[in-house]
Amino acid sequence: MTIFSRIINGEIPSYKVAETDRFYAFLDINPLTKGHTLVIPKLEEPEADYIFDLDDQLLADMMVFAKQVAKGMKQTINCQRIGVAVLGMEVPHVHIHLIPLQKETDMLFSNPKLQLTAEEMAEIANSIAIAIDGEE
Ligand code: AMP
Repeated sequence: MTIFSRIINGEIPSYKVAETDRFYAFLDINPLTKGHTLVIPKLEEPEADYIFDLDDQLLADMMVFAKQVAKGMKQTINCQRIGVAVLGMEVPHVHIHLIPLQKETDMLFSNPKLQLTAEEMAEIANSIAIAIDGEE
C-alpha cells in the first residue's frame, strides 16, 4: 500500500484541502511554494500508479476536481497562477501537483523546499478549504 493510500485511509495524517467520494487534495509535506497541493484519486494499486493508465472519465473528473482546488488556492495564496505538474517519480500513486507560482522558476523541483511549521501548514490548508467551500 502506498503512503498516499494510507493518507486516504486516515492512517497517516495530512493537511486536508478538499475531498469527495473519489478524490482527495492535501498539502505537499515538502512544498516548493506556500500552498503546494497534491490531488489524488481514491484508488488502490496497481490501477492507481500512472496517470495515463487511468480510465478516461476518471482522468477528466480528476482534472475538474483539481480545477476547483486550484481556484480556491488562487483566491487564498498570493500568486500569478497555479502551475500543474505530474511526476510520480517518488510515490507510485497518481497525483497532480498544484503549485502557486510567482515566476517560472518556482516550479523547479530541484529548488530547496520550504520549511513551514505545522501551524502554518494547517492554517494554509484551512484557508484554501474555506475558499473551495465558498465556490459551491
Ligand atoms: P513525485 O512522486 O515525484 O511526484 O513526488 C512525490 C511528492 O509527494 C513529493 O513532492 C513529496 O514531498 C510528497 N509527499 C511524500 N510523502 C508525503 C506525505 N506523507 N504527505 C504529503 N506529501 C508527501
